[in-house]
Amino acid sequence: MSHRLRRLRLVMLPLLLVALAGAGDIGQVSAAEQLTKPVAAARRPVEDPEFARLVKEWTTRPDFISPLVDHLPKVVGVPSPKDGLGHYIGEPRKLTYYADILKYYRALAAASPRVKVMPIGKSNEGRDLVVVFVGSEDSIRNLEQYRSYLGQLADPRTITPAQAAQIIARAKPLYHLSGGLHSGEVGPSEMLMELVYRLATEESPIIDQIRENVIVSITPVADPDGRDRNVDWYYKYGIHETEGRPTGAGVPYWGKYVFHDDNRDINYSQVEMRALLDWYLQFHPPIMHDLHQAQTLLYTFSGQAPQNPNLDPILYGELPMIANFEMAQFAKYGMPGVWTHGYVDMWSPGYLAFMSSNHNGMIRMYEIQGFSGANTQKMRLGNPNGEGGRGGRAAGPGVPDDAAIVAGRGNQSQREWYRPWPATGEFDWSLRNNTNYGETGVITALQYTSQFPKVILENFYVKSRNSVETGRKETVAGYVIPAGQRDTTRVERLVNLLRMQGIEVGRATAEVKLQDATFPAGSFVVKRDQPYSRLAKILLEKQVYPDPNLRTYDDAAWTMGLMSQADVRGITDRKILDVAVDPVTEKAIHLAGTFNGGGALVAIAHYGSNNMVTLRSRLKDLKVQAAEKEFKQGNVTFPAGSFIVSGDSAKVRSVVEALGLTAAALAAPPQVPLHDIDLPRVAVYSMWGNTQDVGWVRYAFDRFEVPYELIYKDRVKKGDLKSSYDVIVMPNQGGSGKRIVFDIENRGQPIEYKKSATFQNLGMYGESDDITGGMGLEGVAEFDKFVKQGGVLVTLGTASFFPTEFGVAPRVDAARTSAQFYAPGTIVDAEILQLEHPIFYGYDKKIIPVRYASGPLLTVQTGASPFDGPPPAGPPPTPQSVLMRYPGGDDHVLSGVMRGANEIRNRPAIVDQPSGKGRVILFAGNPCYRWQNFGEFNMLFNTLLNYNDIKTPPERPASPTPVQ
Ligand SMILES: [Zn+2]
Repeated sequence: MSHRLRRLRLVMLPLLLVALAGAGDIGQVSAAEQLTKPVAAARRPVEDPEFARLVKEWTTRPDFISPLVDHLPKVVGVPSPKDGLGHYIGEPRKLTYYADILKYYRALAAASPRVKVMPIGKSNEGRDLVVVFVGSEDSIRNLEQYRSYLGQLADPRTITPAQAAQIIARAKPLYHLSGGLHSGEVGPSEMLMELVYRLATEESPIIDQIRENVIVSITPVADPDGRDRNVDWYYKYGIHETEGRPTGAGVPYWGKYVFHDDNRDINYSQVEMRALLDWYLQFHPPIMHDLHQAQTLLYTFSGQAPQNPNLDPILYGELPMIANFEMAQFAKYGMPGVWTHGYVDMWSPGYLAFMSSNHNGMIRMYEIQGFSGANTQKMRLGNPNGEGGRGGRAAGPGVPDDAAIVAGRGNQSQREWYRPWPATGEFDWSLRNNTNYGETGVITALQYTSQFPKVILENFYVKSRNSVETGRKETVAGYVIPAGQRDTTRVERLVNLLRMQGIEVGRATAEVKLQDATFPAGSFVVKRDQPYSRLAKILLEKQVYPDPNLRTYDDAAWTMGLMSQADVRGITDRKILDVAVDPVTEKAIHLAGTFNGGGALVAIAHYGSNNMVTLRSRLKDLKVQAAEKEFKQGNVTFPAGSFIVSGDSAKVRSVVEALGLTAAALAAPPQVPLHDIDLPRVAVYSMWGNTQDVGWVRYAFDRFEVPYELIYKDRVKKGDLKSSYDVIVMPNQGGSGKRIVFDIENRGQPIEYKKSATFQNLGMYGESDDITGGMGLEGVAEFDKFVKQGGVLVTLGTASFFPTEFGVAPRVDAARTSAQFYAPGTIVDAEILQLEHPIFYGYDKKIIPVRYASGPLLTVQTGASPFDGPPPAGPPPTPQSVLMRYPGGDDHVLSGVMRGANEIRNRPAIVDQPSGKGRVILFAGNPCYRWQNFGEFNMLFNTLLNYNDIKTPPERPASPTPVQ
């Protein structure tokens, strides 16, 4: 068909629409059919009748399919999913392993000039990561040209508005789709194969228009390791499930470290997320659309409140614009249950597709009804006005998926202004229904984009330009990370995290004199007249939450300087935009350490760097001691906790320099008390039903080279823990002591998690004949024995409920905040009560910023009896065993929101509870939260390094009242 003729048809399509709209009472479904089918039918190539027949059979209700996806072309020489996989997409009880998904895309790319597969890296477990492109032959052949157009629009400083208009006239929007970010959300990764095939082969007005005007790129499976593990689990257990007889557990792991937190990985720690970011910064897709699977029947993200006010108002117009178009199209096709609004909000910038909106593009998201497997299941929804259940869970019990978090936020069968046609009643839901909804939605979004490609591109350009302009006009004109900070490793990390996201950072070539302050040469400068100035502000500023009555889906605060406990200054003096800097061009800078003098005895300053623990590991064969008081050597003050290392100074020098630490040779040991820094034998304890926050601790330990053994209930029940371990870390998990102890409920049959010839992906990161039942009370007894025999148990966040509820920390009680209290990841002050304590080596201030983790409200009993007489006047003293506490109150909220901040007033943040020969160190907060609160990691590392040097604090005089 000639180009002109095609354009004519495109013009006629809206006219046909108008004609139909005026045709009277033909009804919703038939109108939609008349709109698409006859027009499409006239131009379709040969269709696959078997596809149409089976898809109709697998679709559980006639209103669960649209005329966009009820047919599929058959093209000689181009493999369809059936040709490649042996089955049609959406066949009940069929899920595809990642290798087969890749094989299919590669075969399709080999056969069609409209498809291209681009490698972008490797997953944690070594699987190939790819981006698949599909578009017209012109788009694929000239991909590099189209990539460069988007790159130019992304940096408006390089082009004039007239040039931008010329580029927009030639460019095409790149629309990126991503499936399988959450491994239990299996449908979209199946659907995308059919979509790519359809986009490559179908001849119909809508698909032609998409192919001509838009380039589509695809992440087939964002977490391929987790995909394969979940598919294994499905074939081992899920496929045998019948109604009323669920397995009772989801697969214990998705990715190597995290489950759904790969969608909260604000610092791109996981290699899969990082590879996508690197690709993003090359290709700049103006739209990134993540396909999830947790709501009923399809929720399309429209960017509800609370919204981050730093992002462009154009974006807030675009989001509901496309979402509403989709909702209207679905209604036109007669498909119920599509809604906008009322779910994830626009506050936290850490969701994966925020990659795009953070860089002046557009985040999009679907939540499509589905299950973690491919069985057809019954759904029982409520009625539109009354109480009702919600849709099936996407993941099994024990898996804290998105669905679980949102449960209780209203009945999704209820009509709302943003949900004009909810799904109601009882029906079967199949994998093909999920495919139908997902593919119909995505084609509709692409239809919209292809209808307005120039608007999408203009908006992308203008948002980028506005970001530069806004940075020039707003109060905060830039940020300075001053040179001369004690611990340069956190400065290095901060700069590298900013650079990783494409933010321009420069290094001042001379002293910087500004109204705000004067900074030394070498300070790092982030000027806000740059395309990613909005992102820089979002990451570096303190979050001012718009309304304490609004709830947000994830964290309310993430301020990088506070999380790193590094000095970062917002600058109002506009002169900062003209400060002379050397741009940081490296992908990652390295600030080498310093080593003064020479000799066999070396002092290494403990400035709070997380690299101190790495240094100890790398020097594991050398004698390392800690100075218990500060001392001076030359003009350097070595604070308490500094290391004294003897022997092999060449090796020490190279490690110190590589790790960015500060060291000096000593002629003689300093005249202060020293203790040995022994490397403990560390175990990290994990439940089977809640492994994600354990995974973040494992990740941090791996990155900082802390050796440890990951243990589960089976090892604990075997007993004699003290013979194997000195320290057991119990990361945040379970939510309560009871959950930690009893874990996954046994429903009468063991659930095995083991590698086998058939299921190669199971049994990774630990295995068990039966993951149900938990450690039980015999496990509690073993933990108690471990502590009494001299072991150190370290509990983080909600895991601190375990020693308090089960008496392993006999004098500490734990309570919960009230229902009114609300603190989603708020950053607050914490007060160090014993600055000289080894846990606080490297901290030089008594008040430090920490992330509030919604762990237990701890109370320490002082052990006095009520018969001792009336309490002394005045506020009760804080027991010596409390090492850090939350001052509490609104004045101590630093970033984000805390409703009811008085509830935590003077509550312990860290307690050292001796028991027998050992001790329990309870953190009410989580000092190792995701890859984020780096300033707190050091407290955990210090605990490990000084595990046998923590002295039991003397008892305070008796106080008859329990002290909070
Ligand atoms: Zn999800």
